[in-house]
Amino acid sequence: FLNEQIADLDGKVNVSFEFFPPKSPEMQKTLWKSIKKLEPLNPEFVSVTYGAAASTRSRTHDVITKIIRETGLTAVPHLTCIGSSESEIEAIAEDYWEKGVRHIVALRGDLGDDSKTGDFQYATDLIHKLKSLHDFEISVAAYPEVHPEAESAESDLQNLKRKVDAGASRAISQFFFSAEKYLRFRDRCDEEGIGIDLNPGILPVTNFPQLLKFAKFTQVDIPEWMFKVYEGLQDDPETSRLIASHIAIEQVKLLVKEGVEDFHFYTLNRADLTYAICHSLGKRCLPSVA
Ligand code: FAD
Repeated sequence: FLNEQIADLDGKVNVSFEFFPPKSPEMQKTLWKSIKKLEPLNPEFVSVTYGAAASTRSRTHDVITKIIRETGLTAVPHLTCIGSSESEIEAIAEDYWEKGVRHIVALRGDLGDDSKTGDFQYATDLIHKLKSLHDFEISVAAYPEVHPEAESAESDLQNLKRKVDAGASRAISQFFFSAEKYLRFRDRCDEEGIGIDLNPGILPVTNFPQLLKFAKFTQVDIPEWMFKVYEGLQDDPETSRLIASHIAIEQVKLLVKEGVEDFHFYTLNRADLTYAICHSLGKRCLPSVA
């Protein structure tokens, strides 16, 4: 039944892809190969993350500029409150607007050991600022399993509501492996009248030990079955990739069955798995324009 439903999707599914700024010329090559491979799938947008260190920040800007210059994709920069004054944020936003950027993913940002927020403390403050400058489309982060610093699930949900009231029109979820938790969160958003697009963040897991570290930090639950599935594959990246693709395809199929039509992929700058999952969702390359 599920496969028939998927085969019937016929272009109904929308996808977006997330990349991070490359740290080396080698990684730069991989990123661009991936962008070129994924571009014909006609994503709604592609976003580029924003780091805490000044060096990685300028790389976000560089990747965004190159995407605008060299592709037909809608480039969406992430922007955070970490370590920036109000005037710095203004300058970045004005520069993006001039370059034609109309959509920003607005975040508080990860608080590292010594990183501090700047003039803005929360994502909501940043959204207010961006909206006061220009009518940017704003996407924000949402946490089906609750943000680790939140006082409670309820207060975290109220925070999402504040971000929407401030002008966000889309929330992209933290990655998750329990569709049930995501769907309950979606229900809670509906009950609270948070009427925006909630795009599930899909993370294909190719490196399970690394995921465990990341999941601890983000407090995302890793179900017992995943430990079993990846057992003994530490030194077998090829099989891990096959399994990752299978798990993610099952995950998106289940979400489609529950009415989800927009997916955000954490590509980790690699195209193959994301491409395969999108293909299974009925996405096909657009014929090239002569
Ligand atoms: P906020 O929405 O500001 O919330 C932060 C915490 O404060 C939450 O616990 C919230 O409940 C609480 N809170 C908010 N307002 C108040 C208040 N008034 N009083 C008390 N508590 C409050 N990080 C990066 O550094 N760069 C990136 O590019 C990046 N991209 C991301 C993309 C996605 C899709 C996701 C899901 C996360 C991303 N992150 C990124 C991680 C994100 O920055 C962290 O999760 C960060 O810790 C929280 O950011 P936020 O925008 O959700 O913060």
